[in-house]
Amino acid sequence: MPLDPSRTVAELHELQELTGDADGAQRVAWTDTWVRAKDWLDEKVPLEAKVDEAGNQWWTLPGRSEKAVLIGGHIDSVPNGGWLDGALNVVAGVEVMRRLVEEGKPAATVRLVNWADEEGARFGRSLFGSSAAAGSMADQDELRSRKDADGNALPDVLAEHGVDLDRALEARKQLENAAAYLELHIEQGPVLESLNLPLGVVLGTFGVERHLVTFRGQAAHAGSTPMDVRRDALAGAAKLELEIRDIARATGDDAVCTMGSVVTKPGIVTSVVETAECMLDQRNLDAFALGAMLEAAKNASERIAKGENIEVEWERIWQIEPILFDENLIQLADEAVQEVAGISRRLPSGPLHDAAEVSRAGVPTVMLFVQSLRGLSHTKLEDTKEADLELAVRALDRLADRTIAWVESRA
Ligand SMILES: [Zn+2]
Repeated sequence: MPLDPSRTVAELHELQELTGDADGAQRVAWTDTWVRAKDWLDEKVPLEAKVDEAGNQWWTLPGRSEKAVLIGGHIDSVPNGGWLDGALNVVAGVEVMRRLVEEGKPAATVRLVNWADEEGARFGRSLFGSSAAAGSMADQDELRSRKDADGNALPDVLAEHGVDLDRALEARKQLENAAAYLELHIEQGPVLESLNLPLGVVLGTFGVERHLVTFRGQAAHAGSTPMDVRRDALAGAAKLELEIRDIARATGDDAVCTMGSVVTKPGIVTSVVETAECMLDQRNLDAFALGAMLEAAKNASERIAKGENIEVEWERIWQIEPILFDENLIQLADEAVQEVAGISRRLPSGPLHDAAEVSRAGVPTVMLFVQSLRGLSHTKLEDTKEADLELAVRALDRLADRTIAWVESRA
């Protein structure tokens, strides 16, 4: 049975029929629809599924070596999500597994994994299953207190799905023999489309610096306070928002800075703004450049505050280092993409993925991106040309073979 990439496309449509509606994909983790998607997936794989302590679903094809090549993705989606985000990786992985099963015992063990709750859509915490397997799962006390929009506690909902939060980290043993991790994903951005390329090789995931920047001025009457004596906190926020764009551009092509939220107080039309709380998100693949971007934004905010006669204060909300994928696997991925598409391109990933968690755990990792149309994702408008999807399945398949040989050569 040779590889049949058109079957992957047909199965992705089938999954969307089964678990989506007019508003898009509805495979939110820890819901009945998610369970239906997982059962559907299990029926497709010609191997028996095992579920680990974090709710991840594994299918294992034993090879001549216990060293394992992992192919991973996530079948969960955001509410009203796209038909490809996450699902492409696992459904393409199924097709590669079928081909391998048919050919008999591979040189290395090959395992397909469907990570539990990559999106974090219901409880606001993403990468649940992969961070448990990687041993990097955030504070479990904090997870215990999480509730969904209806007030259901996370541990209770997990228990309904057979997952005991206290034992989730036991999923770590799944990575014991992992020698390589491969993940195919839609790009979710506009870069490959702008270059007219179907496929790309991912260098790593951006480091992120996320801060709450608070400007403080003085509330004052909008009618009685002359312009030149105002201490307007919103002026600080507005000037900083414009300046972070220049800071990102000056840092390099890939750098991004976003002020995604500004909350003003007192927030009434008859008062000068006393406090403006800004959420600033900065990302780069280079840790040094990311640090420099942060410094530049801090310096700018202080200069702006001085000029406006207001104060500024920074508080870090979240941070993650850039995660660089494996040089050898990047090379193999380049070769695989060149073989099927004639041309390859290396690019960073702005979003985080399960691959970042696996890589952090020390497993050599690489990702393939396939072009997204209009760069849209997390919406029902998310789409990719079917011809490109088929090329992506072929590239994953070629990469799997090359990686099995690479793992064998290192044994
Ligand atoms: Zn995804």
